[in-house]
Amino acid sequence: MAQKVVVVGAGLCGTLLAIRLAQRGYRVILTEKRDDLRKMENVEGRSINLALSDRGFRGLRLVGMEDEIRAQCIPMPGRRIHPLNGEEFTSPYSGREKKFINSVSRGGLNISLLDKAGSFENLEILFNTCCTGVDYDSATASFENDKDGKAFDIKADFIFGTDGSNSAVRKSLFAGSHRLLFSYSQSYLSHAYKELTIPPTSDGGFRILKNALHIWPRGGFMLIALPNLDGSFTVTLFLAHKGENSFENLSTAGELQDFFVANFPDVLPHMPDLVNDFFSNPTGLLATIKCHPWSAGEKVLLMGDAAHAIVPFYGQGMNASFEDVVVFDELLEKLNGDLKETIGRYDSIRKKDTDAIADLAIDNFYEMRDHVADPVFQRKRQLEMKLEQTYPDYLSKYSMVTFKEDIPYSKAMTKGRAQDEKLMDICSQIESVDDMIIEQLYEDLKTIFY
Ligand SMILES: Cc1cc2nc3c(=O)[nH]c(=O)nc-3n(C[C@H](O)[C@H](O)[C@H](O)COP(=O)(O)OP(=O)(O)OC[C@H]3O[C@@H](n4cnc5c(N)ncnc54)[C@H](O)[C@@H]3O)c2cc1C
Repeated sequence: MAQKVVVVGAGLCGTLLAIRLAQRGYRVILTEKRDDLRKMENVEGRSINLALSDRGFRGLRLVGMEDEIRAQCIPMPGRRIHPLNGEEFTSPYSGREKKFINSVSRGGLNISLLDKAGSFENLEILFNTCCTGVDYDSATASFENDKDGKAFDIKADFIFGTDGSNSAVRKSLFAGSHRLLFSYSQSYLSHAYKELTIPPTSDGGFRILKNALHIWPRGGFMLIALPNLDGSFTVTLFLAHKGENSFENLSTAGELQDFFVANFPDVLPHMPDLVNDFFSNPTGLLATIKCHPWSAGEKVLLMGDAAHAIVPFYGQGMNASFEDVVVFDELLEKLNGDLKETIGRYDSIRKKDTDAIADLAIDNFYEMRDHVADPVFQRKRQLEMKLEQTYPDYLSKYSMVTFKEDIPYSKAMTKGRAQDEKLMDICSQIESVDDMIIEQLYEDLKTIFY
């Protein structure tokens, strides 16, 4: 008889994991506190998009869904920077052809994963089923049905907690006998975010450049926008909670209007619903969560945001969560399908990399907010492009993180930071990279990246 596995949370990571475990022949029960996204008219998050890149595609490839999801994506080969004064310009993500990140609808992606999950006879999905706690020793999960309020337990051989950053499965670790060995940290950023919209034109076109991730960096705060297939853009304002330019100071429509006129004048005419969006959408908090161990008693394992929530500035949270499934699957294969041993060993292999991407994402917050429009930073990006175009084996930090699924995040962080330091130093001393002879620089950098 196949082993019984419960996966708590049918979001992005949990559904991908459930599919993979079903493909491997386990009896899988996937539980989700929300209703079935596919039946809901106004899907929370349907209009919200995410940047999907190579590590994420690796996870989708594992379960045979890469092509299907690529068809739902809009390629974004570069950042489109909108300075406050001056012309907008594009800063490519890579010096190489065909290297781009992709805008994909969160709701659309989740629905595709649920459709695939629903095609397996050995995979049952229970919606409106909220996990209230897990007993780690007996692998028993407790649930409450959100519709009729009935409480029930499911005993399994193994349980996976993929229930996001506010994980109920993780919280049970604080209450059980394993709490003394459980380390946990949660650090909030001084900034929060608000989702806004640029609607399509009346004939369904894009009001600003389609194939780009738009950024309005303002030093201290910023606006970003990613395209959707229907011609709209999902816009996100990142702003401090308190202080001069902050959410605290935007409490009336007039204050909001004045703030956009002063800081984002070029995009304001494209945001007719700004006031309504701003005051009706929630303000989201941004936190990094690190914890350890991700398993206790070798029967229950945390994965995805439940194990390592990160801030969104590298566009890697979902990508890292999909990569989790790949790393887990490779280990399971290596250990001849022994789930118990795989669960016990998994975080010793994986945690250094999720810690690294958590730290890189914080670095990128400051880079996107404060530096992308800065001339030294721009010269550094130009130099990186030149190096990537000239030397096939050269990879910038961004390329290692985003386009090299075979380089672990921890390695990308160490090498990338060392490269950044050297390149920023050089670019602060020159006026232009055009006439620069890069042969010697490449030789010097080799000592860092080989
Ligand atoms: C503003 C913002 C922008 C982002 N942009 C990007 C990006 O561009 N690229 C990228 O790679 N990542 C991005 N991320 C990160 C990405 O959203 C997450 O890393 C990813 O969703 C994690 O997937 P997950 O399945 O672990 O968690 P989630 O997607 O949060 O899924 C958790 C699921 O568990 C369910 N659940 C919760 N509690 C329970 C319970 N008690 N019982 C049962 N079910 C439960 C939830 O309803 C949900 O369906 C962004 C995040 C934010 C906040």
